[in-house]
Amino acid sequence: MDCLFCKIIAGEIPSTVVYEDDTVFCMKDINPQAPIHLLVLPKAHIASAAEIGPENAGIVAHIFETIATRIAVGPEFADGFRVVTNCGENGCQSVKHLHFHVLAGEKLSDRMA
Ligand code: 5GP
Ligand code: ZN
Repeated sequence: MDCLFCKIIAGEIPSTVVYEDDTVFCMKDINPQAPIHLLVLPKAHIASAAEIGPENAGIVAHIFETIATRIAVGPEFADGFRVVTNCGENGCQSVKHLHFHVLAGEKLSDRMA
């Protein structure tokens, strides 16, 4: 499978790793849209939020637990943060491996789109 994020997780393409465990990988976004812009993704390939079902929903719960307990824990997150996933064509998903953007470090737009 020719997946950019699978190659990054495998170490074939470099990234700035912020956190990883057996099932979750977190890196800095290469083109940050806020002072802090992280990407949190399952190590297993899931194409998008539209592919979440009973067989893989546990990883999504683990991702949100990891964000709350391991990633968004420093003082730079104390005033809040945003978690976003883009899905499909209209959602402007550009990398077809499920990932959650974690944005922080300033007051973000009050508009979702
Ligand atoms: P999407 O548009 O699919 O929601 O988000 C994809 C994100 O991946 C974008 O924010 C983009 O900047 C980021 N991105 C694309 N290529 C790379 C890369 O090679 N390394 C890293 N760290 N981020 C990437
Ligand atoms: Zn992948």
